[in-house]
Amino acid sequence: MREKLVAMLDQGRKALEAADSADALQEVRVRFLGKKGELTAIMKGMGKLSPEDRPVIGALANQVKSELEDLFVERSRHVGELEMQKRLAEERVDVTLPGRRLASGSKHPVTLIIEEITDIFSALGFAVAEGPEIEQDFYNFEALNMPKDHPARDMQDTFYINDDVVLRTHTSPVQIRTMLKHAPPVRVIAPGTVYRRDSDLTHTPMFHQVEGFLVDRNITFGDLKGILTTFLSQVFGKGLEVRFRPSFFPFTEPSAEVDIQCVMCKGQGCRVCKNSGWLEILGSGMIDPEVFKAVGYDSDVYSGFAFGMGVERIAMLKYGVHDLRLFFENDVRFLRQF
Ligand SMILES: [Zn+2]
Repeated sequence: MREKLVAMLDQGRKALEAADSADALQEVRVRFLGKKGELTAIMKGMGKLSPEDRPVIGALANQVKSELEDLFVERSRHVGELEMQKRLAEERVDVTLPGRRLASGSKHPVTLIIEEITDIFSALGFAVAEGPEIEQDFYNFEALNMPKDHPARDMQDTFYINDDVVLRTHTSPVQIRTMLKHAPPVRVIAPGTVYRRDSDLTHTPMFHQVEGFLVDRNITFGDLKGILTTFLSQVFGKGLEVRFRPSFFPFTEPSAEVDIQCVMCKGQGCRVCKNSGWLEILGSGMIDPEVFKAVGYDSDVYSGFAFGMGVERIAMLKYGVHDLRLFFENDVRFLRQF
């Protein structure tokens, strides 16, 4: 039995020295020191020994046990250090490597055009106002001279939330909100998102408009022409031909549709301008006295004009984009070009 114990100590020592991971160490420990381990098996057999041998062998067994345990602790510490060093080596960060470059975004063409329009009108003394996209019928229609049964409501396919609440079909309600809050003179543009139940090659259910209006004493159609001509020549270039065509809007009287010479063919006639040489670019007119009545302005003292334009349309013409839907697909190959 003494020889067995000595041999076991030797084996255990070798096994521990050979173990190079925490798992392997654990295995050795179970094999020699565990409840069903080799040392336990030997100690169970001690009952068969003579009373003289028992304490001697018992002391030796305890010595072997404590020696193996010490070795195990020592080896564990060593293996732990080895594993830590291995991990540190694997996870080492080379701080001299070049960094990953962050992809930088760019402004959306619709945003660029809105900013350009805002800059031009700011230089002309206009302030910027905004209003809610979920709008009350009163601001979107009624105060703009379109009572509930007015046929002009059919000109706009409206998303109704309920009888009195709509997704605004134009940015004109900002005109009403501004005039109700401020006495004249006012000189404001209102860029924003609008919604219509319309979807095809040239229409999307959501698009952007810029509304503008100016109210003061002695404002005439000549002021309207002057401001809009200045604006359009700044966007599309000097020397651009502009024409004003009589039109109808419920909230202006008289009203005019404004065309510019086709920017694609310089007025020669092409597919984009349907061979007319002209492109419709915005709607405008002198603010109807009925609108002044709704906001409490005295139309005997004040007059003013208003205009509205589609931002995507201006972006299409300025950048030569033929499909409106490109603006909303968010394809970075398209967006990177601006
Ligand atoms: Zn053309």
